[in-house]
Amino acid sequence: MTITQTSALPLLRDIFGYDAFRPGQEEIVDAVTAGENVLAIMPTGGGKSLCFQLPALMRDGITVVISPLIALMRDQVRALQEAGVCAGALTSGNTEEETEAVWDAIEEGRLKLLYMAPERLASGAAMGMLRRIGVSFIAVDEAHCVSQWGHDFRPDYLRIGELRRALDVPLAAFTATADQETQEEIVQKLFDGEAPRAFLRGFDRPNIHLAFAAKDSPRRQILDFAAARPGQSGIVYCGTRAKTEDLSNALNAAGHTACFYHGGMDAEDRRIVETRFAREDGLIVVATVAFGMGIDKPDIRWVAHADLSKSIEAYYQEIGRAGRDGAPAETLTLFGPEDIRLRRNQIDEGLAPAERRAADHARLNALLGLAEAMTCRRQTLLAYFGEAAEPCGNCDLCDTPPATFDGTTSVRKALSAILRTDETYGSGHLIDILLGNTTDRVRARRHDDLSVFGCGQEHSKAEWQAVFRQMMGRDLVRPDPERHGALRMTEPALPILKGEASITLRKDTIKAAGRRPAVKA
Ligand code: ADP
Ligand code: ZN
Repeated sequence: MTITQTSALPLLRDIFGYDAFRPGQEEIVDAVTAGENVLAIMPTGGGKSLCFQLPALMRDGITVVISPLIALMRDQVRALQEAGVCAGALTSGNTEEETEAVWDAIEEGRLKLLYMAPERLASGAAMGMLRRIGVSFIAVDEAHCVSQWGHDFRPDYLRIGELRRALDVPLAAFTATADQETQEEIVQKLFDGEAPRAFLRGFDRPNIHLAFAAKDSPRRQILDFAAARPGQSGIVYCGTRAKTEDLSNALNAAGHTACFYHGGMDAEDRRIVETRFAREDGLIVVATVAFGMGIDKPDIRWVAHADLSKSIEAYYQEIGRAGRDGAPAETLTLFGPEDIRLRRNQIDEGLAPAERRAADHARLNALLGLAEAMTCRRQTLLAYFGEAAEPCGNCDLCDTPPATFDGTTSVRKALSAILRTDETYGSGHLIDILLGNTTDRVRARRHDDLSVFGCGQEHSKAEWQAVFRQMMGRDLVRPDPERHGALRMTEPALPILKGEASITLRKDTIKAAGRRPAVKA
């Protein structure tokens, strides 16, 4: 069976296991799929390989991938094969069987991606072979290797231009390091001087103000945020369908024009909302993540998250819908322990293999790290995508640096409360123990006999909630997927418990929403 599909999103999910594109990927995937010549510069770790792997599945014929790194090629081929994609490599490291299998796949018309080291191009036989087998696209990884002045120069890369001419197919060149000079050289050598479509933009969207707030009373918080921005077009993202209807009603009652949108509505109703949003000024759409694909409205002035996204990639993509026109836009993301619990459970309850679940947890951790960041959010966000930046002056933490405190003792007390109760309770009961509250439950379990009982009276209940939330955010404790709400200690917490590491926490429990003071409607 050949996999040839017309829509990128299902493939992104089903084959690659990602829920959203990373910055820059979607535009590049579209251009490559459309058969344009492309030069894309992305930082290391930015996710270049997806930009040719995904289009390879959407196009007819074989995509040839030229890469200088044999180990990397083999890794990619293995990962693709595990995902059910027919991919192969012709490299010097191949066993005879491997080469045999690649040829079989080519002859049977199954092969979608063929990885090759540039040295191969030196032989006339390879050129002839590539001409016969129906190559429809060339992807060049580490394209800066074509630069004679760079230290990664590979003479065989100079043959790629020849290959492109001989096959007369589009070519996409990828690299992480390309100054102006190298870029020009790539255009000369790989594209014969004919300017390809270039993607050189960094990931930063400096006009978007970033802000997070602990979820306190979400409806009030969203209403305040919207009230401070009367008459502006905005999107509120919610975790559930029911909540979209609920919040939309509340916004209308507060005098806004709002409507809801989710995947459970029929196609016609959804289309009506999309059209209204595109045409009307000042409409608020309260939606699940089903809303957004194909929404190309340049003047969305704000995006609010009533519930936390599922990964840092999803967050970036969702807030990225604001301010496409370059004018100032604002965002607010609410998050609390319930969000963390829900997202962790969704990952744990999914049927994905263990490796993918671990990657999903890591992507959620990155978002939680951003939520609990103590310095510039944009720096934290861009660093995740491999881009260095100065403090931005356009995020809540640059506006008002948070007060912090040495949280080592507090975290150790919380951890011992968890361990002394056998990791079977949620934060509510644990906080009762720490505060020394003799609730019925505390009495029934005899937790007032524990040495930790009442040892945390230096904090209020709200402060302890913030401590637990930050512990969850930093993945020091995780909800037990088997026992509802119960918190378990993770390995990274051990050095803190043992007194070998210290930890700084944010003091503020509830941050003000957005930059401007909220105006009561
Ligand atoms: P590069 O070649 O740009 O250095 P890779 O293509 O190896 O980067 O990707 C870097 C990492 O990013 C990989 O671990 C990959 O799984 C991950 N990744 C790529 N695209 C996405 C996405 N859309 N969502 C989440 N993770 C992604
Ligand atoms: Zn900042």
